[in-house]
Amino acid sequence: MTAMNYRGRLAPTPTGQLHLGHARTFWIAQERSRAAQGRLILRLEDLDQARCKPQFCQDIYEDLRWFGLDWQEGPDLSPPGEFGPYEQIHRLDYYRAVWAALAARRGIYPSPQSRRDVERAIAAPHEGDRERIFPPQLRPKTWNITTTPSEVNWRFRVPDGEVITFIDNQVGLCQYRAGQDFGDFIIWRRDGFPSYELAVVADDHAMAITEVVRGEDLLLSTAKQILLYRALGWAIPDFYHCPLVRDAQGKRLAKRDQALALRTLRAQGVTPEAIRQGWDLPVLG
Ligand code: GLU
Repeated sequence: MTAMNYRGRLAPTPTGQLHLGHARTFWIAQERSRAAQGRLILRLEDLDQARCKPQFCQDIYEDLRWFGLDWQEGPDLSPPGEFGPYEQIHRLDYYRAVWAALAARRGIYPSPQSRRDVERAIAAPHEGDRERIFPPQLRPKTWNITTTPSEVNWRFRVPDGEVITFIDNQVGLCQYRAGQDFGDFIIWRRDGFPSYELAVVADDHAMAITEVVRGEDLLLSTAKQILLYRALGWAIPDFYHCPLVRDAQGKRLAKRDQALALRTLRAQGVTPEAIRQGWDLPVLG
């Protein structure tokens, strides 16, 4: 790959106001794209229609521009760019086709169990933040191939025991064991929408993203996503997971905490430069 081909992305979910953590991750994404003379795209991850609001989308564009971010493709540009549409809600037919490709390879299966059935089948109590592993005994032995996802959850069957290894450009060597660190994960939801994992892989592939820059809370998801790229026979992009910004109590920022929202800081007269000076940005490499 030559430097000219670099394509990065900003992928906010418009369910609330962006905070300092988003700003920092997106700034790093922009710096990395600029260093590689690449292109940056903005993609709205707006599949959760109950929680996504058009006003949040407008606020995102405004807050990001105020902060000094600039993208070359995105839903608010005219023309948006050749890899659009850049709102996930307008890409459902494409996700259904990706679902069908996975279903045809029998890499995914229908999983009609309720959350309660799954909880009941999990032998060990769930500790803290660790993933709940879908119990392998609930995998179906046989199922019919359908052409559209039926109204149940569909899960990706992980290769039990296999260690998924990748070198993250920020974190370094990462290793997660399928069946232990994560289990069969949801690909398609009973409500008719793809899961985050399916939509993000499908879009990063279709939008020719070469490096995914995002928060390190998604490292484990990356291992799952690598399995999806593999199952679909797609090239795996590079990854760069940024350390999370934490509040004074050490808790990671959430959209519900308004105090460190970019909007709040801006209304208080804080400048983007002052925000950036307060950061200890890692050396870009
Ligand atoms: N939309 C996700 C979020 O706002 C980011 C997903 C990603 O970058 O892969 O947390």
